[in-house]
Amino acid sequence: MRKISLIVPCYNEKEALPFFYNEVKKILDQIEIDYEILFVNDGSKDETLEIIKEFNKKDEKVRYISFSRNFGKEAAMYAGFCNVKGDYVAVMDADMQDPPSLLPEMLNIIQTQNYDSVATRRVNREGEPPVRSWFARKFYRLINKISDADIIDGARDFRLMRKDMVDVIVSMQEYNRFSKGIFGWIGFRTYWLPYENRERVAGETKWNIWKLFKYAIDGIINFSEIPLNFASWFGMLMTLVSFLFLIFIIVRKICFGDPVAGWASTICIIVFIGGIQLFSMGIIGQYIAKIYTESKHRPHYIVKEASDEKIKRVH
Ligand code: UDP
Ligand code: MG
Repeated sequence: MRKISLIVPCYNEKEALPFFYNEVKKILDQIEIDYEILFVNDGSKDETLEIIKEFNKKDEKVRYISFSRNFGKEAAMYAGFCNVKGDYVAVMDADMQDPPSLLPEMLNIIQTQNYDSVATRRVNREGEPPVRSWFARKFYRLINKISDADIIDGARDFRLMRKDMVDVIVSMQEYNRFSKGIFGWIGFRTYWLPYENRERVAGETKWNIWKLFKYAIDGIINFSEIPLNFASWFGMLMTLVSFLFLIFIIVRKICFGDPVAGWASTICIIVFIGGIQLFSMGIIGQYIAKIYTESKHRPHYIVKEASDEKIKRVH
């Protein structure tokens, strides 16, 4: 019989986990497929790990990985991908914003049609602060313009994939991971399943505006070189403009002499160019910082304890 593996990254999810577990069990027990649920405890500070261990004790289909500290959702997903055994693999949030009720339909699509993955997309963002939605929309528009990875607006990390696609994802060892970009970049045939947004069942979101902003910048820098080219384009434009300006000044001097003026305009130009230069250097700095973290080859995650021996301790 075929097997499906669910990867569930959890960070301080003690309120939501019991709901999630019950719901998923109910749904998976109804369909004819073998399954495993792999909880990844991402250094939670509450009793998340104890709850997961309890599930593991009474249910042999539950496995777990527990990190030595909080490594972030990207690392948790990666740890999951590295350690699952199923023919199909799905990533799901613990807060039920990725409705488990969609699983049977997703499985059906991947088993009967010629797709390598079934991904989900929120068609609305109800229940989300309007500022957050606005920035999210702008971000998706921008990143699709300037990078190869096509990233769909409203795309969730919730998706079901064949194992060979997961193996490719595992082989992409970059340290700065942006999974939405990786999924799009590797290609494969993806079916997009739309659904209405849900609010989390319990607990609180782990993302504030600042964390999301950093995540968006990471996404852009990891999947586009356009910002890096910005400096050279702007430099070229400035050279051209200053050349024309030079001709203008020479002609004016020859025709009208040289009245002493221009302090204000000089300062404006110096300040403006100075600003652009600092900005460009900042962009270059962002890329260098990424190169720096990549070149250290640090592990993506460190496991403190796990349900079985087969789980890779550092990777
Ligand atoms: N999560 C995680 N590590 C983190 C932050 C979040 O594993 O550092 C998990 C979290 O437990 C949840 C999922 O990632 O299962 C999505 O987080 P959340 O619901 O807070 O994000 P949102 O739905 O608000 O975007
Ligand atoms: Mg959520």
